[in-house]
Amino acid sequence: METEYPPLPPLQTGIRGRCPRCGQGHMFKGFLTLQPECEACGLDYSFADPADGPAFFVICFACIPSVLLGVWLEVAFTAPIWVQLLVTGPFMLATCIPPLRPLKGWLVASQYFYKAEEGKLA
Ligand SMILES: [Zn+2]
Repeated sequence: METEYPPLPPLQTGIRGRCPRCGQGHMFKGFLTLQPECEACGLDYSFADPADGPAFFVICFACIPSVLLGVWLEVAFTAPIWVQLLVTGPFMLATCIPPLRPLKGWLVASQYFYKAEEGKLA
């Protein structure tokens, strides 16, 4: 059954939120909620469990521009707190929220592609 589908690169399917098996169906039904299964090929998404993976990547990498902006505003202009709230706050939301969905899609697609699952004692 799985041989009907050529392997698709997780980056290509995941970032666009497409099914990791057929590349056609949509993976998400909300912003971050996964569909129960692919509407095109019927792939059951119950295997998918990226847990805190997307949040981890955002915390570690996507927040760096926000921190740099906040520090720069503080050091260069001694910016009052309301400037930080009005400038750095929205900038932080703009740099941290949008990457969550493509990151989750990429992690789920990678899980499917590399057949990753919980370790088992043989
Ligand atoms: Zn599919």
